[in-house]
Amino acid sequence: MAVENRLFHKIQSGERLSRQEALALWDLDLLTLGRLADQARWRFHPEPMVTYVVDRNINYTNICVSGCRFCAFFRPPGSPEGFVLDEETLRRKLTETRELGGSGVLLQGGLNPELTLDYYEGLVRIIRGHGLHVHGFSPPEINFFSRQSGLPITEVLGRLIAAGLGSIPGGGAEILVDRVRQSLSPHKCSTCDWLAVMAAAHKLGLRTTATMMFGHLETPDERIEHLLRIRDLQDETGGFTAFIPWSFQPTNTSLGGDAAGSWEYLKTLAISRLVLDNVKNLQVSWVTQGGKVAQVALAFGANDFGSTMIEENVVAAAGVTFRLSEAEIQHLITSAGYVPQRRDHVYRFLGGGSQGPVGPCPLPPAPSPNPLRGLNQPGESGGSPRLSGPSKGGWEGSLRGEWGSRCSPGPTLNSPRVAVIARVGAHRDFWEKGVRYLGKEVRLTPFGESNPVHLFEHEGLVFAVLSRHGEEGYHVAAAFVNDRANLYALKDLGVEKVLAWCAPGAINEVMEPGHLVVPDDILDETRGGPYTFFPGRGLGFVRQNPVFCPELREAVIRSLKSGPFPLHDHGVYVATSGPRLETPAEIRKCKMLGGDLVGMTLVPEVFLARELELCYAALCYVVNFAEGLRNRPFQPGVLFEGLAAPEEVARVRQVEAAMAELVLRLLPILAAAPRACACSRLMERYRLRGDIGPEWRTWFT
Ligand code: SF4
Repeated sequence: MAVENRLFHKIQSGERLSRQEALALWDLDLLTLGRLADQARWRFHPEPMVTYVVDRNINYTNICVSGCRFCAFFRPPGSPEGFVLDEETLRRKLTETRELGGSGVLLQGGLNPELTLDYYEGLVRIIRGHGLHVHGFSPPEINFFSRQSGLPITEVLGRLIAAGLGSIPGGGAEILVDRVRQSLSPHKCSTCDWLAVMAAAHKLGLRTTATMMFGHLETPDERIEHLLRIRDLQDETGGFTAFIPWSFQPTNTSLGGDAAGSWEYLKTLAISRLVLDNVKNLQVSWVTQGGKVAQVALAFGANDFGSTMIEENVVAAAGVTFRLSEAEIQHLITSAGYVPQRRDHVYRFLGGGSQGPVGPCPLPPAPSPNPLRGLNQPGESGGSPRLSGPSKGGWEGSLRGEWGSRCSPGPTLNSPRVAVIARVGAHRDFWEKGVRYLGKEVRLTPFGESNPVHLFEHEGLVFAVLSRHGEEGYHVAAAFVNDRANLYALKDLGVEKVLAWCAPGAINEVMEPGHLVVPDDILDETRGGPYTFFPGRGLGFVRQNPVFCPELREAVIRSLKSGPFPLHDHGVYVATSGPRLETPAEIRKCKMLGGDLVGMTLVPEVFLARELELCYAALCYVVNFAEGLRNRPFQPGVLFEGLAAPEEVARVRQVEAAMAELVLRLLPILAAAPRACACSRLMERYRLRGDIGPEWRTWFT
């Protein structure tokens, strides 16, 4: 009882609660908590106003690579139910919002890999052009935009602010504990990343809200942890305007389970009011609880009724369809003994109070020379979307926010252990197979920008796909591929094993077009390089036997032996430079030297992979007989100018069409293959000599 009295005394005198005291609140009964929270509410708001905002939610896309288990709203890329809001519909919604007296828009959407920062800027400009405030883009979206564009969080925010972004909603917080986040939404930003976006936004002068979605996998202690994390950041920045706890709605979600009841909701709400002694406003969630519980919540610490939500889709997708008009909200507030008061998105009272038309948004419309740029034209402008890139401080730790130095290292998002370096646009083969797409990254490395790395998940295994010759056509001939950047990027993402998928010609005539070959040796006939990560440094003097990782080769051979295509489990791959094809005399020379296949891709890729201590093996599908082995007339305008006969091309198409399937079959075997090989220690000699350190990234600085 003495402990309880001390707790009551602290609360009633407005003193800060410690973690232990906050945890002890769970032991208090609901009505006691309500009474204490109500007292705290009146300390914050001595006037009997209960505020609300007239606005609508606009969801610009439901396509999302995050796939959160609690979300019934999203559709994966490629889904026929996926949408990106078109401009006409957007403008109609905005006009309607204005006509209904709305002062702003809550703008949120899925993490859509096809949209670019230009698109988001265009959206914001259009909304501001209608004189509406933009309360937009939750931290996971901002984090995604940053990774996609390769720009630091502050730069992304700066561009959105310049376009007219007015404030940020606190969505995507769920529970700010990585144990929970990893289970609920492993592909979404971490606790640290969420806080980093909010910290950056506050420092740029944006006000934001904070939310908590509870009642799923978290413990009561983790709810307290969440509150403390918000409280800590608020101490530092003061940028949170309001806190909005709401309960998980399980219908139509893969997580399922039961929704928290109103008892638990009110208890959590009251505890939020008591712990968050530095966040002024506490919002009810009538969307999840209904108007009547929301009305009662006004006696449990809440002072804000949220939004009229002219439109709401996300909670509705989870089967909850409470709807309230402005008049109904006013009535609920009035009949509970309070005075309804309209506000804007940063909690300023708006003229009109409980009656009359709302005044215009106090912010001037953002100038917009070209508000439509990028809108509804996914990927059209702004270059290739990029999921991750360097912060201004360098390329290291590019998955971390600027605030990362203050956060304990969290789990890395989407770490693939296996990568496939493949032909042009190979990622589309996996899309077509419906493999779960996690997005793409372009990494800035010490050797320049990598090709896009597409991340997929298949049966619980995350893997990467990189097209060495570009995404469309054959724009990057072998001699011009930035192999160093590509391999560095893969290693940087966490890849340990690389399967190179390539399409050589046959020098050995038993290897016919359409056959598979797992080469075991290389003859390097290329010129020009670069063949090493360490030019002029005396490093990389590495033995090349075995050339390919024996464990990986063995796994590939074992897996494909019983497959539908003839398989050769050894072969010498002769690498030439190109971009031209070889002459008949060169092929005769290669044959005399013991070559079985000829192509342009595996060198210097294989040598560089070894310098990065990656396991690397190649799976070749033969596409033609090399020059001079068959009598083939020159045919301008067709593939290889007629080097491959039509029936050979048809066989090759078959194997090509099956490659993604073969990779998916291989994937678990490759992932499980032990790294008992020497690949992970190929630079050991230099480590022992002290030429390089244990952290591989430092080798290049
Ligand atoms: S909650 Fe947001 S990020 Fe998660 S799946 Fe739904 S739309 Fe995507």
